[in-house]
Amino acid sequence: MMNSKPSCVLFGSELSDANPSSRDFSEVREVSRKYDIVIGIEIHCQLATESKLFSVSANAFGSVPNSNIDPTCLGLPGALPVLNEACVDLAIRMGIATDCTVEPVSVFERKNYFYPDLPKGYQITQLDMPVCSNGTVELTSGKKVRIDRIQLEEDAGKNIHQEGSSLLDFNRSGVGLIEIVSAPDLSSPEEASEYVKRIHAYAVNLGVSDGDMERGNFRADANVSLKPKGQTTLGQRTEIKNLNSFKFLEKAIAFEIERQCEVLESGGFVAMETRGYNSTQNETFSQRSKESAHDYRYFPEPDLPPLFVSKERIARVKASMPELPEAKAKRLATTFGVTESDARLLATNKVICEYFETLMKALDGKVEAKSVCHYTLTEITRVIRNLAENSASTTEELVEVPVPIAHSLEIILLLNAGTLNIRMVREILDESLLTGQTPKSIVDSKGLMQVSDDGPLLAIINKVLSENEAQLNSYLNGKDKLFGFFVGQCMKSGDGKLNPARLNDLLKESLESKRTQNET
Ligand code: MN
Repeated sequence: MMNSKPSCVLFGSELSDANPSSRDFSEVREVSRKYDIVIGIEIHCQLATESKLFSVSANAFGSVPNSNIDPTCLGLPGALPVLNEACVDLAIRMGIATDCTVEPVSVFERKNYFYPDLPKGYQITQLDMPVCSNGTVELTSGKKVRIDRIQLEEDAGKNIHQEGSSLLDFNRSGVGLIEIVSAPDLSSPEEASEYVKRIHAYAVNLGVSDGDMERGNFRADANVSLKPKGQTTLGQRTEIKNLNSFKFLEKAIAFEIERQCEVLESGGFVAMETRGYNSTQNETFSQRSKESAHDYRYFPEPDLPPLFVSKERIARVKASMPELPEAKAKRLATTFGVTESDARLLATNKVICEYFETLMKALDGKVEAKSVCHYTLTEITRVIRNLAENSASTTEELVEVPVPIAHSLEIILLLNAGTLNIRMVREILDESLLTGQTPKSIVDSKGLMQVSDDGPLLAIINKVLSENEAQLNSYLNGKDKLFGFFVGQCMKSGDGKLNPARLNDLLKESLESKRTQNET
């Protein structure tokens, strides 16, 4: 069963903090002069289903310890796993988003190891035949990062270490995960973090996962190695486990690159091992020497048949998927000719984007996309932000734009015809939200109409200049900054209804001619 919680990640803002100048990885850049930096990422992403991967217990965070359990997820003798099809659909979603091949047949395997939080003594996962394989994710630089595989597997329980004792909570045991494994195509901490952010945005936007990194529902392992430039074989890699923030991921990788460089430069060799990251000390530390796949004695899970995925099923999942933000931004830019950055802003919020598209369709070419986009991104967003400030919901949780399309159409046409200026638009929007009146009736009843004719504009300019003689003299003597003061006075005198562009021009002309007179 899928969780219908609305996705609420701002795709744009997720990516926008990838600002390289805010962090200093100069030492990493130094290393990269001599070595090729090779990074691969494995992401464990908890699936947002109501029940577990192979049993009916609830997948819920924060329950009383050991309350969401059953014989299967505890590994009691004789209990059999039954595959939760909703988990498969979510894995397929991620596969489609990352351009993977969704495999017609995949196989579950037992990965055998002993650990207190794994009561069965093995994890059900996939190995040679994962549910999805061979995908790509394109970074903003245009670099294509290959995805090796996406496999379905179950999560383990939790150890809680207390003073003098360790406790076990099996609520998480058997919860569905996808593990997304990239090829070693990343070559800097920033690239690695952009890639992980991209996968995270997919997961949240597609409802695959809640993506809660603090709770460990989305965590990354980074495989890092260095290869002297010119060498063809890869260097020995280490794996940094369980990085649960984008910032820690970058820092841990940067530290590990520098550490390995020091080891190699001093003539040592990098040991194959699993390392942890201590965010307080900002360093990675050795946890255990890394096992090879054969240590786990993998074998096909005898209690589960192979997983068959039909073409029809893939098509059904695909049809149910929302358009991804990047694809949407690209489409907006090509269809309407708005700038790429505006398209990306529009694409970050589904509701606002749909609103813009409805407006464009209704206007049918009567108004330029640029103006409609500007109106949507500034005025409509302002209205929504004001409403959000006065309620418990956030802008991202918005279900519907509170301004009826018909109202916006009236406003845009009046704005486009030069009848209204932005100040009036704001007044009308606020009033219309409050009273439910249409913009046109507000314009009529309030006599709101922008003054664009030279006659009345010049009358106001002359009045303002004669009333402010001292300022006028300072201006004529070179104090150019006072121009803004005159604009303000005119606007005030014109009750905010003056056409600002025309006012500017006429005011400039009047002042220039007075300066010329003054000089002669
Ligand atoms: Mn795994």
